Amino acid sequence: MAKERGKKALLALLQKEGNEVCADCDAPDPDWASHTLGVFLCLTCSGSHRNIPHISKVKSVLLDEWDATQVEFMASMGNSAAKAKYESKIPPFYYKPTFSDCQLLREQWIRAKYEREEFIYIEKQEPYSAGYREGYLWKRGRDNGQFLSRKFVLSEREGALKYFNKNDAKEPKAIMKIEHLNATFQPAKIGNPHGLQITYLKDNSTRNIFVYHEDGKEMVDWFNAFRAARFHYLQVAFPGASDIDLVPKLSRNYLKEGYMEKTGPKQTEGFKKRWFTMDDRRLMYFKDPLVRPTCDLPREMHLPEGKFSLGAKRTATRSWKDSHLLPRAITGSTG
Ligand SMILES: [Zn+2]
Repeated sequence: MAKERGKKALLALLQKEGNEVCADCDAPDPDWASHTLGVFLCLTCSGSHRNIPHISKVKSVLLDEWDATQVEFMASMGNSAAKAKYESKIPPFYYKPTFSDCQLLREQWIRAKYEREEFIYIEKQEPYSAGYREGYLWKRGRDNGQFLSRKFVLSEREGALKYFNKNDAKEPKAIMKIEHLNATFQPAKIGNPHGLQITYLKDNSTRNIFVYHEDGKEMVDWFNAFRAARFHYLQVAFPGASDIDLVPKLSRNYLKEGYMEKTGPKQTEGFKKRWFTMDDRRLMYFKDPLVRPTCDLPREMHLPEGKFSLGAKRTATRSWKDSHLLPRAITGSTG
């Protein structure tokens, strides 16, 4: 009887505000829970909690047995109270993943929150909030697609991310301005669960590099360091703008990517398979998703605002800011 009451009490708790979505990714109708942290979770996040057994112990709300003290603890904590505790000091630029994000971001978010308690103690945020970061990343080489260890330096003061081909090199191989930088996780495309695509502008055309770090925490720290640098750059560039205006501009995922067939520039040429990327209002295509060395520069087409429904989410009010923030795309030949 006591067990029955316990289960009823748990199900009632799931109806409480805050508990109707997963504490970590906002997925609806969580039916798992951490009885040591007092949060209700979706199945996927409960999997990440199993990786930190010294912090979190999970149970199914419906399938497992619960004792009275565990149910009482769930009642005393719950998702809202846990958020107030574990998410009290999230920096505005920090990327909070949801259920649609990649596994790396979700797992590291959970570890940052409960295992490292990064959002309780501000000093633990230094790896991404200091305005300077240097270290090694595996970067996909242009010539043979092999990943090579490269030194990267991110400096807010210089407004740039640089990387060096040789350890003792004085001149960086590339200087990527924070103003135009974008970073997005692309594990499937890059073939590595930590794979990050970095996009920047060189000579007014879009360039991509593909990197990863074998340590998930390091990779996500780099990603948030990029976002912090972008945030501080935009704060200076647009002093009147609020955090709510700036945060969506720190990094962006592509609206759509995939293969399509297109014809060549001459009428006599047949259809060729090309990789298309829809990024904000720009449609680009490549010979290959990772741009093979033989490939010429990506060709880009700038989609005029208002003509395409993909941009419908954003309204005319974006205007002045975006015209400055967006890299200028080449309106090249469409070959
Ligand atoms: Zn979840």
